[in-house]
Amino acid sequence: MLLENTPHIDDTPASPTAPGSTPITAPVSFAYLGLAAPLLHSMVMAGYTTPTPIQAQAIPTLLTGRDLLGIAQTGTGKTAAFALPILHRMAARRVRPVRNTTRCLVLSPTRELAGQIAENFKAYGAGMGFIVTTVFGGVGYAGQIRALSGGVDVLVATPGRLIDHIKAGHLKLGLTEFLVLDEVDQMLDLGFLQPIRSIARDLPAERQNLFFSATMPTEIGKLASELLRDPVRVSVAPVATTAAKVTQHAIVTEASNKRRMLLELFANPAIARAIVFTRTKRGADKVAEMLDGAGVRTEAIHGNKSQGQRERALRAFRDGGARALVATDIAARGIDVDGVTHVINYEMPDEPERYVHRIGRTARAGAEGIAIALVSPDELGALRQIEKLTRQSITLQDRRDHDSVPLEQLLPVPGDGRAKRGGPRPSGVHRADPRVTVKPHGGRGAAKFAGKPRGQSRH
Ligand code: AMP
Repeated sequence: MLLENTPHIDDTPASPTAPGSTPITAPVSFAYLGLAAPLLHSMVMAGYTTPTPIQAQAIPTLLTGRDLLGIAQTGTGKTAAFALPILHRMAARRVRPVRNTTRCLVLSPTRELAGQIAENFKAYGAGMGFIVTTVFGGVGYAGQIRALSGGVDVLVATPGRLIDHIKAGHLKLGLTEFLVLDEVDQMLDLGFLQPIRSIARDLPAERQNLFFSATMPTEIGKLASELLRDPVRVSVAPVATTAAKVTQHAIVTEASNKRRMLLELFANPAIARAIVFTRTKRGADKVAEMLDGAGVRTEAIHGNKSQGQRERALRAFRDGGARALVATDIAARGIDVDGVTHVINYEMPDEPERYVHRIGRTARAGAEGIAIALVSPDELGALRQIEKLTRQSITLQDRRDHDSVPLEQLLPVPGDGRAKRGGPRPSGVHRADPRVTVKPHGGRGAAKFAGKPRGQSRH
């Protein structure tokens, strides 16, 4: 693919960096990245003053037309990192999209994320006149067929519904110039490996590919090598690194006590906007009912809810109509709600990576957040795995004795960062009691702590 109008940039593009390394130089402003004026204006309108590390590293490279392999989780600003350079390059070679084709195809694991990506493209490309549309399951075909028939500039799609449209002849991929695969690890978790391969077969060989995943196990590395051509590798968060500004706590409690404990947590107004994770859809409904019954305005979001129900739930949570959102892992993917003060792991996830995704729902874009896990004794092994994976200690309180430290002390006031993001500003609570901190390294994990007397430091 030719690059028309190569942007003038200060120097060579940001170099690829090894996983876990920091950017070599962080530009002081978006202007240094070489983006077109309308995009710079959009950044001002969005209130973004400084590029995030993935933006600083990826944008200059993408503007040159190279493929990119990005290792980054949500919350890092990766959507703008791919949307801005694509919009820039599409504007530099302006053509009217041909009927039933798209110039840019973005694949996303969930409809929620697809909707958010499309919104971002629209916001960043405001005034540039691009046609941005979405295609995902759970809603009717007619509107999508109509939208595709006119030809689109940017199509954000989930793989299953996209394939339906391709098979039915509503979309042809032969003129696709840009392919973005977002949250590839999650797409593979959802069984989209074969659909992605099948979609890729319809794409022209000449295209720019952008591939993002929070983790890079062998299977994903293999897919990347099939799809990408000499990619620049950019990594802003080492695999399974938790967001730096999330303060993490774990409360050890009998499983039978979790309901009571959750209510006790919500008695504290510091928990102003919280996502509560359960492992199952049924569990999510039960917890939501329990909270609602106790007067905590709650919504639930999981795979058995219709698209309309999910959207209503998310809206209520976003608008402050609901204080709690109870979610399963898959339903919560890609949810981007500002001002989430707490993520509560009511049940620990089976896979430690999921914990990282879960707590990434708070502390978005520089704000601070708190993650609290309610850990039953048989979940201590899972906690240990998380500590090993993230190489981080998690403050642990053993609450199996009734006279232990009040839970309120586990609910510190989020720092000033939260106030800046417009999140709720809690008051009247104290910093976490760090009396018991588990240092997991060297095999001294949380599991061993299970039998220790409360309140003693282990090291
Ligand atoms: P993402 O990782 O793309 O889901 O982005 C996470 C959040 O960061 C979104 O709410 C974006 O609106 C926000 N964001 C993206 N880039 C910036 C930036 N440069 N400055 C401030 N916020 C940003």
